[in-house]
Amino acid sequence: MESEQIKIPQATAKRLPLYYRFIKNLSLSGKQRVSSAELSEAVKVDSATIRRDFSYFGALGKKGYGYNVNYLLTFFSKALNQHEVMKVALIGVGNLGTAFLHYNFIKNNNTKIEMAFDIDPMKIGTEIGGVPVYNLDKLEEIMNDDIQIVILTVPAQVAQSIADRLKDKNIRGILNFTPARISVPEHIRIHHIDLAVELQTLAYFLQQ
Ligand code: ATP
Repeated sequence: MESEQIKIPQATAKRLPLYYRFIKNLSLSGKQRVSSAELSEAVKVDSATIRRDFSYFGALGKKGYGYNVNYLLTFFSKALNQHEVMKVALIGVGNLGTAFLHYNFIKNNNTKIEMAFDIDPMKIGTEIGGVPVYNLDKLEEIMNDDIQIVILTVPAQVAQSIADRLKDKNIRGILNFTPARISVPEHIRIHHIDLAVELQTLAYFLQQ
């Protein structure tokens, strides 16, 4: 990230990609300004929150004018480092991993899966969604310092031992799709996404 980066609350930071995607589409369609009400309708965030979020970026909308789309776009692409593609490796090319390899993250995002690893001889040496699948045994050798994020879609019982092998790599973040709660050194940020739990939580709220 840029050194001049503004310190913003985590909740606001999480909404940045959402804002960015919408603003980019507006810009592509030639629109030059947008009101917080329009933004609110499109991204489903209330307009008071949008105004507060944007005030952290120094984007102060004018009454009756709204926000300048190009200003916002420049700000968001800088804050999200859009000019720099973040390289990702995926470990575990099962059903979920395969779906991610086929999904074109780069379309709406500044991340790209560059390589994948597995232990299954049927998968090693193949290319899935244009991504080469390598033998996990060669992880240390093949995974270069360009890779900053790892997506873990392996069986839960091997998640921790694989994470341990990433300690000496240049990895800055792990997106863990296994139900295992793994521990990592402080310099690595870990996000856990347990789809079964998410689904169960949604079902719970629907029953209320
Ligand atoms: P998913 O959970 O993604 O739907 P699946 O049911 O197809 O996957 P899993 O048994 O969860 O299969 O394994 C996911 C992938 O991880 C498989 O491709 C499997 O070969 C791979 N895998 C299994 N053990 C290891 C390991 N120790 N290291 C790396 N990959 C592994």
